Amino acid sequence: MAISLHPSLDNGIKPGAKDFAGGTLTCNCSSQPVTVALKGNVAFNHACGCTKCWKPEGAKFSVVAVISRDNLKVTANENKLKIVDPSAVIQRYACTGCGVHLYGRIENKNHPFHGLDFVHVELSKDQGWAAPEFAAFVSSIIEGGGAKPEEMKAIRARLKDLGLEPYDCLSPTLMDLIATHTAKQKGVLAA
Ligand SMILES: [Zn+2]
Ligand SMILES: [Zn+2]
Repeated sequence: MAISLHPSLDNGIKPGAKDFAGGTLTCNCSSQPVTVALKGNVAFNHACGCTKCWKPEGAKFSVVAVISRDNLKVTANENKLKIVDPSAVIQRYACTGCGVHLYGRIENKNHPFHGLDFVHVELSKDQGWAAPEFAAFVSSIIEGGGAKPEEMKAIRARLKDLGLEPYDCLSPTLMDLIATHTAKQKGVLAA
């Protein structure tokens, strides 16, 4: 039996729809759920092994993507949201009822990812979200208690089977974006 990584990865990955209009994220509360409307599709969807991202019970990885903060709007029960750790770079807004993270936001204007919110499209019933493309911070699942070191070879192999190249930081594209931003801030590259 294949190693279970996350409910939305384990049965294979469905490609996203072209020109997808967006949809609604809903937390797990059975009454008065928090809902968040996303306009348009997400980008850089990926499996993340870090210890901070929200993931469903028993999952080894989270599945997280970004969307422009201008395209995200809380549409119901916003009063249930609370920032998990106000001192963290990414302020993750979690539902105080069920614990699900509805979105993560970066307020530091100098951060390379300022303007992008982090979301989990598995919280949406809408079909057509951009599919996960890679796996980030894979080694960190050891720190989170999700895997023993000796299991990592099989976990990386399973990620590759699913078409998710495993990285122990972000993907090369995202690492290059961060370095470019930093180089421009330092004046090494022309802004
Ligand atoms: Zn909830
Ligand atoms: Zn993460």
